[in-house]
Amino acid sequence: MIGLFQGYHVIDMHAHFRSGEYVAQHARLAKQHEIDFVVAMANTLPCNDTVENLEAYKRLLSGQEEIPRVFPLAALTKGREGRELVDIEALKPLVVGFSDDGNCLQDLDLLREALSHDVMVMLHSGVEYNIRGFRDTDEPKWIEIYLGLRREEKRGILYLQHISRAGSVELIRGAKAEGVKVFAETCPHYFTFTRDELATPVNPPLGSLKDLEAVREGLSDGTIDTIASDYAPLPQPKKTGIAGFRSFLPLSHGLVIQGVLTGEQLKEKLYSNPKSILELAGADLGGI
Ligand SMILES: [Zn+2]
Repeated sequence: MIGLFQGYHVIDMHAHFRSGEYVAQHARLAKQHEIDFVVAMANTLPCNDTVENLEAYKRLLSGQEEIPRVFPLAALTKGREGRELVDIEALKPLVVGFSDDGNCLQDLDLLREALSHDVMVMLHSGVEYNIRGFRDTDEPKWIEIYLGLRREEKRGILYLQHISRAGSVELIRGAKAEGVKVFAETCPHYFTFTRDELATPVNPPLGSLKDLEAVREGLSDGTIDTIASDYAPLPQPKKTGIAGFRSFLPLSHGLVIQGVLTGEQLKEKLYSNPKSILELAGADLGGI
């Protein structure tokens, strides 16, 4: 490693370590690619929706060497099915936040109730569908709905995952200008590739050139706070798809090479902003 990111720690706010023996294996891979802290999603088998399952998941990582610090999330709803909230109070001490990532939460009463527990809720906004030979997402529609709720429910932390569409960036920019408290994330593939160039499946699906440019603008003007990998090995843990740990920092650094961000701004997206958000959510990062 040549140390482009020397001088600060890299925090990946969104990765999937899957289950069983693979959890430690994926964690080691993150560390090999200079990632020091990882927020791990809850779409595990069994689902990380109970204290028992979370404790078992944590045991898979304890005592492992050469891995990043891992902050697991709990699912927001049981089985990530969007029907019934997990036991938030019981799980709160074990996790840094809650997410049904992979699924779009459609029951707004559940979202409101989750936030009222004063926890961090990370949302996968949008339902994917096929249109004119492309996979697309209705992400902006859900961003609008969630921001509407956020204007009324101000407790907790609302974090919008993997923003990929121009319409979403515009809505978040407007909400932030109004003073709505919300954080937004994107991933390297959304500012590097378009659906016209690559047919690689990923959720949300890649957007158009207009979307890509909007995501870059959102990063540059502070609408988007963080860059995360969304490392998601599928269908078997050996295939990583488009969102890999190996490409995470090189593609992010590409924004500096291309003049989209300054080096200092990139540090904010990969370190300072994630650190502030995690600390706001009660995480102890050990004085970094
Ligand atoms: Zn997702």
